Amino acid sequence: MSTEYEMVVGLEVHSQLLTRTKLFCRCENRFGAPPNSLTCPVCLGHPGVLPVLNEEAVRLGIRLGLALECSIHHRSVFDRKHYFYPDLPKGYQISQFTYPLLTGGLLTVRSGEGTREVRIHRIHMEEDAGKNMHAGIRDASHVDLNRSGVPLLEIVSEPDIRTPEEAVDYLKKLRQILRSIGVSDGNMEEGSFRCDANVSLRPRGGSVFGTKVEIKNMNSFRFVHKALLFECDRQAQILDRGERVVSETRLFDSSTGRTLPMRSKEEALDYRYFPEPDLPPILLDPAWIEEERARLPELPQERVSRLSREFGIREEDAEALVLEEDLSRYFEEASEAIQEFAGKGGWPVEQGTLRLVNFLLSEVLREWNRKGAGILVGPLSAREVSHLVSMVVEEQISLNQAKDVYAVCVESLKSPREVVAEKNLFQESGDEALGGWIAEVMAENPGEVQSYREGKERVFGFLVGQVMKKSAGKANPQKVNRMLKEALSR
Ligand code: ADP
Ligand code: MG
Ligand code: ZN
Repeated sequence: MSTEYEMVVGLEVHSQLLTRTKLFCRCENRFGAPPNSLTCPVCLGHPGVLPVLNEEAVRLGIRLGLALECSIHHRSVFDRKHYFYPDLPKGYQISQFTYPLLTGGLLTVRSGEGTREVRIHRIHMEEDAGKNMHAGIRDASHVDLNRSGVPLLEIVSEPDIRTPEEAVDYLKKLRQILRSIGVSDGNMEEGSFRCDANVSLRPRGGSVFGTKVEIKNMNSFRFVHKALLFECDRQAQILDRGERVVSETRLFDSSTGRTLPMRSKEEALDYRYFPEPDLPPILLDPAWIEEERARLPELPQERVSRLSREFGIREEDAEALVLEEDLSRYFEEASEAIQEFAGKGGWPVEQGTLRLVNFLLSEVLREWNRKGAGILVGPLSAREVSHLVSMVVEEQISLNQAKDVYAVCVESLKSPREVVAEKNLFQESGDEALGGWIAEVMAENPGEVQSYREGKERVFGFLVGQVMKKSAGKANPQKVNRMLKEALSR
């Protein structure tokens, strides 16, 4: 993008809630069942039926409101939002318009080296629509209404985001919060976390916003990033030509990485909102809100602060760990084991913790991304990983060897102890063994010892090599270096 422009982004996220049943009927809220097997007259939109609000969905809304520090309204109202599409059997969606459950709120995201506070505009409750199915069907479209009536929260940010990276971090942090408080599984492949991005450009330093374009329904962080970059370029070219950006809704085509026009704002739908006559307003008892507040678990940001404080690790590292909540739990468990190993081995805990963090964020995270969270159990318990890391700290094996051992463990389901023994990897670091070899080598090579002491430092490498040879490659090279230098200077 040309640096003359500043990007302005506001995000609208639809998140499916982890309720057992749908928002207004008792059908199961579950992904992956055979089409139309989870339906009833209410979510099929038959005439004459009445919706009954699922209290659990409201409870989850309250939890999100607490986590994002929103104003939680003691009175909110459902409205009918009308549009005509085959996946919407009633011809309207029950949503909230004038009086949403939540307004205001804040999410702090990473911005370059610093942070940026993104304000939440509003969060309202609504029901999901069904899903049209085209794949493998000729001359027809089918509709699966299992999703019809599934509870959603729509989370609308203020246009406070300024870069694609901030947008992605906002989405990651939001998804992480939703998951950590049990509001949503945030599963993007299954559509439980979907994003519309609104984007405009303005001259850098300007104070008025430009005309925005809305990019609909992206279900991956990578797509959001790509779509924003593309849209930024496209709009910059339009502005550079002295033309105006058209206010419109666009679609992201993931196969080309481009956005394509879907409908212009002139064709904008008139939703004919009006209050849902079949549902009373939601009235919240303040005591209920306080109960939920007391039941809220540690939030991701609190966890980051605590981990970095308690274990003395960098904020960035803590944040990377907490992005995968299970990984951060694993880290805590492993850290406790590290303390134990450090106590036994008589070395500083911090040294082990640092190595542990690095190991988790490289080797373990890589396997995790490849194989899923399953790698955190089994032979490589948190304790075993700590043991492996301790062996590196104690210089029994090198870091590279530890990485190899880890890979073998993951494949073979053997423990690090077994693999290290099998591969015969243990380095010799004992003072006695190393001292013995060094003494022998010095006795056998008096000439080299003499010339080293006269200043020919080049022979040092030769002497180290001799010690390594005597140990059949097992001597810990760093320690040999150290001890040999000492011996030669005596
Ligand atoms: P609409 O009426 O088109 O739905 P809203 O004002 O309701 O627009 O805003 C929808 C989303 O678009 C919000 O997330 C908001 O932050 C964002 N938004 C509003 N104006 C702009 C703009 N000029 N550039 C980028 N995003 C914007
Ligand atoms: Mg909108
Ligand atoms: Zn139903």
